[in-house]
Amino acid sequence: MEFEIETGQRGSQICIYNSHRYRHIRNNKKGSVSWRCINKECSAAILIDSNKFVIEKGQHDHEPHQNLEQQCIRGMKRRAEQETTAIPKVYEQESIKFFMQTGGILPVFNSVRSSLYRCRNSSLPVIPHNLTEFDIPDDWKKDNLGGDFLQINVGTDARLLGFVSQCGLERLAEAKHWNADGTFYTAPRLFSQAYTIHSLTGKLWVGT
Ligand SMILES: [Zn+2]
Repeated sequence: MEFEIETGQRGSQICIYNSHRYRHIRNNKKGSVSWRCINKECSAAILIDSNKFVIEKGQHDHEPHQNLEQQCIRGMKRRAEQETTAIPKVYEQESIKFFMQTGGILPVFNSVRSSLYRCRNSSLPVIPHNLTEFDIPDDWKKDNLGGDFLQINVGTDARLLGFVSQCGLERLAEAKHWNADGTFYTAPRLFSQAYTIHSLTGKLWVGT
């Protein structure tokens, strides 16, 4: 079986053999080269002799790196579909987890970016072009417990939407102080302002 040598990040050499990745250990006196699995907890190693013949030493106690990489990217796509966590955040969290588990580096964000956004868009409603076709699917009117979340939905040309759970409303009603702030910067397209109201409940700020 053929092996491939590639240059990893920071200029280190990586040898790919049988879908596993190895880091360079040393060049031996008689022209052979020693490599060790990039997973630091795995003791598998290979020796490539001066005739480019590969001698395997020990067994990997994990799946091949490339399979793990594909598995990790599939996991990211699933998260992109099922969660609302920002896509760059999903990538960042999963690549840290991948590095901790395998010692490997995932393909750069830009190479998976569009497929992750495609997954995200497949689970989101179509972005409306004007307020008359702005329709909120029933699922998005409910909170995580299935209670009403869209409490205010008035106007056509000037539309006002208010989202708060029943529990959030009760906490606002009980609170002595509210902190309220509006931002134009993060308002969704077609809307001018996103306005939030927070109240302090115990040690927690509850948002509305
Ligand atoms: Zn290994």
